[in-house]
This record gives sequence, structure tokens and C-alpha cells, in this order.
Amino acid sequence: MEKMEAKRRIVLVPVPAQGHVTPMMQLGKALNLKGFSITVVEGKFNKVSSSSQNFPGFEFVTIPESLPESVLEKLGPIEFLIELNKTSEASFKDCIAQLLLQQGNDIACIIYDEYMYFCGAAAKEFKIPSFIFSTSSAINQVSRCVLSKLSAEKFLVDMEDPEVQEKLVDNLNPLRYKDLPTSGVGPLDRLFELCREIVNKRTASAVIINTVKCLESSPLTRLQHELGIPVYALGPLHITVSAASGLLEEDRSCIEWLNKQKPRSVIYISLGSIVQMQTKEVLEMAWGLANSNQPFLWVIRPGSITGFEWIESLPEEVSKMVSERGYIVKWAPQIEVLEHPAVGGFWSHCGWNSTLESIVEGVPMICRPFDGEQKLNALSLESIWRIGFQVQSEVERGGVERAVKRLIVEEEGAEMRERALVLKEKLKASVRSGGSSYNALEEIVNYLKTE
Ligand code: UDP
Repeated sequence: MEKMEAKRRIVLVPVPAQGHVTPMMQLGKALNLKGFSITVVEGKFNKVSSSSQNFPGFEFVTIPESLPESVLEKLGPIEFLIELNKTSEASFKDCIAQLLLQQGNDIACIIYDEYMYFCGAAAKEFKIPSFIFSTSSAINQVSRCVLSKLSAEKFLVDMEDPEVQEKLVDNLNPLRYKDLPTSGVGPLDRLFELCREIVNKRTASAVIINTVKCLESSPLTRLQHELGIPVYALGPLHITVSAASGLLEEDRSCIEWLNKQKPRSVIYISLGSIVQMQTKEVLEMAWGLANSNQPFLWVIRPGSITGFEWIESLPEEVSKMVSERGYIVKWAPQIEVLEHPAVGGFWSHCGWNSTLESIVEGVPMICRPFDGEQKLNALSLESIWRIGFQVQSEVERGGVERAVKRLIVEEEGAEMRERALVLKEKLKASVRSGGSSYNALEEIVNYLKTE
């Protein structure tokens, strides 16, 4: 009891990207509400403390990183993470040593994003329990275990061979080799290096994952088996706690615009915080959306059209047509948009947060994945949960028009919506007292209070 009143401290280490920061901060808030003090460790690439006003009582500390800012442009995401981990291990140890001095040695746990595996060494050295936090799906984790094994076997499977690509991965039906998350991430050897590092440097005693048992029961069982440590599925965290940590400013005017639209008529388009589009795809999207005759709300992030600052590359007639039928914002309050009654469908890159957020609101999806992990999520949406369908990666206006009509107007879309609404109820039940995610959070809290 005494110990609880003194509030044990938990150290969080997020990856500097919106899709990782948001769920990590939600986890922090959930644990804070359960009586823990929270310290967030950030480097110069994280800007988490920019939303510190939403996290009263949280402490933010910065570790120096020797990587120059310019690497972000020069390196692909995988290489960036490998370099970041190499350069952060020593400074993180120093940071924990300092914190221990300040906290009277009472740090209950270090919870680090799976990609910040440099944290493992400090946890081991100072004998502090550590948990890995995963912000992607369980099937993505399992696929990474498979990739890690393939690389240990000196890559016996030739991933480029079309015959191999079509083969099913052992015990992971319906996953084929070509579905493993290898695309869009840069050179394969660096991806394997990252997968190996994540596995080899693991000192954590458990994995916390922002997914839900009813969505990913069999990948979760397989993951537990592969890792040999407890796996706690406590998602979707954004229902348990709302904790805004937007790195970009939300344009709330789109809610006013949505208020004027008919129920379930609007297609919402957002490709998350990282994806880049070519002008050609943007133009095809614009024409396809206009030709569908459905109203649309389109998030186009500044800098997300390759080579341009924003939408200045759109010809005037396209901009005019877009503004007549749709509404463009730089960044939307996505969860509020998805729960708006006017929204009938979500055109998404299938990032894991967007996927969970859409299911929680019972909104069916058009899947336009870009990288490997997003392709896995799209596969689950289309083939397992059957609440979305994929479009060709060569996006053209006719395909866009057909896809929007299929989802918003046709019977098939209505059936997907019905299934999505069933899942929505299941997810909501999972975080209520006695639900699987609720119980997982309780187990973690009990562990951290007694460790
Ligand atoms: N998001 C948002 N406003 C937008 C677009 C995205 O708040 O206009 C949020 C969205 O709600 C989600 C996150 O950004 O929580 C994107 O994460 P996701 O995992 O879907 O994709 P990533 O950005 O990691 O590719």
C-alpha cells in the first residue's frame, strides 16, 4: 500500500513517429490512471513533449543522439532505426542512471517500443524489468519471427522466385511468402538485420501489444509460442483512454463540413503520417473521387506529395472540381471523423492505428497499402474480417470510382459495414470490465505493483 502511494515510476521510450507515439502515450495514460508516475524519454527526433499539456504530471527527459538531423532524409526507415539504436545505447544508460539517482532507485519498469531495442542493455545492466510495446498487429510480429528465422537459415527461401512467392507460409494460412512484410522498407539485408537485432537484443520479460484477442486470436497464440514470454493484448488503447498526442495540428473545420453531409455518404481518405504519393496517383484519385459523385473528405499532409509542399501541383480545374465535391485538410481529428454519422467508408493505407480506429467505429475500408506491414493488415481486413477490400497499387480513376461506389453505394459495402459493426461491439466489450483487453491491463498492473 505504502509503495502504491509513493507512485512507482514507469519509463516509456517511444519511436519518433506519430503511429508509434500515440498508442505509447495512451498506454502511459492508462498506467498513470492506475497509479504510476510516467517518464517519457525522447530524443531529438521525438517531439512528444510538444503535446505535454495533454499529459499533466508526466515527466519528459531528452537523451542526446549523435545522429545528425540530416540522416532522416538520407536513410530509409529501416536503416534509420538501425543507426538510431547503435548510437543511443550508451546515452540511454546514462539517462537511466540519472533517473535512478533521482527516483531513489524505484523504477518499476522500462516500456520501450519494439524498434527501440537499445533500451534492453540498460534494463539488463540496472536490473530493471522491461516490457516491449508493439504498436503493430500480432500477425506482423509473427511474420517478423518468420523473417528472422529465414535470415538465420541464410535465407534458404528465394523471395524473388514467383513460385516461392505463391507458397503458403507454414501454419500461417492465408499468408503466402509474398505477403511477408518485406516490401517498401528498403534493402532486404538491412530488414533482416533489424529483425535479428530486435530478437537478439530482447531482454524484456513480456510483450504488450495494441491488438485485441477477438481480432487476432491465432497470431497471438503463435506469437506467444515463438517468443516464449507472456504477450498481453490490451488494445484498442484509444478506447481505454483518450490521449491526444498529435504531432500535427488538427483542422477541425472538416467536422462542420461533415455536419452538412448525408448519413454514411462520405468517403474519408487518409494515408497516415508517413506515406508519400506521386502526383500522378493524387490526380487519378482526385478524378476518381469526383466521378464517383460521393462527397469526400481528403487528408493531404504537407509534404506527402513527392516533390511538392502541398497541393500546388494540382491543376486548377482539378482543384475546382475537388472543392465542389469534397473537402481537403492537412490533418484531421481522425477518430472524431470516423465516428461521425456522415462517414460511410475509409480509404486507408491500413496503418495499424487507422485499422483499429476504423473497426472501433464500425467503418468499412478501401485498402490501399504501401508497405509490407500495411499489406498484412489489408489482407486481414479483406480475407479474415471481411470488412474491406484491396485496390490495385496502380491507382487509376476508373478503379477509384468503382471502389468508392462498391463501398458506399452497393450492397457488398453494406454487408461489410454490418460485419464491421459486429466487430465494433466485440472490441468495445474487450475493454469493459471482464473483457480480454481489460483483464490484460489488470494483469500488467498487478505485475508492476508487485515486482
Ligand atoms: N491521424 C490523424 N489525423 C489525420 C491522419 C492520421 O490523427 O489526418 C492519426 C490516426 O488517427 C492514427 C495515426 O495518425 O492514429 C496514423 O497511424 P497509422 O498506424 O494508421 O499509420 P502511420 O502514420 O504509422 O503510417
